[in-house]
Amino acid sequence: MLTNPEHANSADLLIIGGGVMGCATALFALQLDPTLRVRVLEPDPTYARASSALSAGSIRQQFSTPLNVQMSQFGLAYVAQPETLLAVPGEPPPTTGFIEGGYLFLATAAGMPVLEANHAVQRAQDAPVALLSPAQLQQRFAWLNVEGLAGASLGLGGEGWFDGYMYTRALRAKAQSLGAVFTTDRVVALEHEAGCIRHAVTHGGERMAAAAFVNAAGPWARSVAAMAGIELPVFARRRTVFALRCASTIGHTPLVIDTSGLWFRSEGHSGSQFIAGWGPNEEDDADDLPLEPELQAFEAHVWPTLAARVPAFEALRVEHAWAGYYEFNPIDHNALLGLHPACGNLYFINGFSGHGLQHAAAAGRGLAELIVHGAYRSLDLSPLTVARLVDGRRYIERNVI
Ligand SMILES: Cc1cc2nc3c(=O)[nH]c(=O)nc-3n(C[C@H](O)[C@H](O)[C@H](O)COP(=O)(O)OP(=O)(O)OC[C@H]3O[C@@H](n4cnc5c(N)ncnc54)[C@H](O)[C@@H]3O)c2cc1C
Repeated sequence: MLTNPEHANSADLLIIGGGVMGCATALFALQLDPTLRVRVLEPDPTYARASSALSAGSIRQQFSTPLNVQMSQFGLAYVAQPETLLAVPGEPPPTTGFIEGGYLFLATAAGMPVLEANHAVQRAQDAPVALLSPAQLQQRFAWLNVEGLAGASLGLGGEGWFDGYMYTRALRAKAQSLGAVFTTDRVVALEHEAGCIRHAVTHGGERMAAAAFVNAAGPWARSVAAMAGIELPVFARRRTVFALRCASTIGHTPLVIDTSGLWFRSEGHSGSQFIAGWGPNEEDDADDLPLEPELQAFEAHVWPTLAARVPAFEALRVEHAWAGYYEFNPIDHNALLGLHPACGNLYFINGFSGHGLQHAAAAGRGLAELIVHGAYRSLDLSPLTVARLVDGRRYIERNVI
């Protein structure tokens, strides 16, 4: 078991980063072992730049890999029933504002084989998904232009959206209620010897010992890994989200993924408010761009594509926009979890590439099992091991939005 008796300024488990991953890891570690001394170092309790607060906050079962479907299925309960699973005695019941709105993946004829292959993966995991023909699509979604489409995949349950900031705060409050101590500080160095981290040195001048450390620094995980001499291919890639108002009320839309890669979905209940975003081409997708929304892209690319797919979107205005960082793993677009062969006590929970919020509960529980028991006990997350960076294995997710 994890114990670090060294001195008072120490912990059994020291988590670097208090976004959704750090909070989930702290919570599940303490549920597995309530005696653990868990500290979380987070420099910004307002989460102004954290991905968890700037996320589009959506959850889907429509992935291409079985494990990602299973991780969403586990996470759904935490997102949809926080008042039960994240309740803190004596506090008002937490909420995440979950709306079960569904996802709709559109496909051209060229995209149908991939859509059908993904559908088979999802059905094998009992995901409630249906393939629709263009005629069925048109009948169901009168606002959609089905020209050029050969079909689509619709989530019939267990998919939707929620508030990432509120979810993170609920996980954090639950972890604190179980004994996790959050400190407002930033790790600036990791002291290591003999293949293990001994101390984390903070901006505030503390030198903290721990038996185990967790890199939960989201888009900044690469810099934390570098402090341990490890090269981690996780890059901060800017993603802009536009909040839109349509002149006409078209009603509820699921989260629609267009064949162009652009996505949009209803926001709120008015039927005339939406959010939308897209993934830039690789050559435009530089690392560490300033966290300012890419406003010029709306006129140039986003609006014409939206209006081509939904004619009512010809009359649309941007009410506001924001940008956040995907913590992007360009190698296989999937999480990097667990221990790296180069370090015996630094655990990774990084690289989710735009689908981390919905997977935080499953990843946090899995990492906690690895730390406390030395092995996964529930869902086997070993295909996501960070060690695959060294041995060359890949676990490719094709449904990256
Ligand atoms: C625009 C956008 C849309 C998204 N949409 C979705 C979606 O629909 N569904 C979904 O599941 N996911 C989505 N994601 C991805 C999801 O938000 C992330 O995968 C998830 O929030 C990552 O959580 P995290 O805790 O790793 O990172 P963060 O929330 O960024 O937290 C990392 C924390 O580490 C702290 N930190 C950094 N460096 C240090 C240091 N040296 N010492 C101590 N602390 C440090 C930071 O202050 C930060 O608070 C989206 C992301 C973006 C940007």
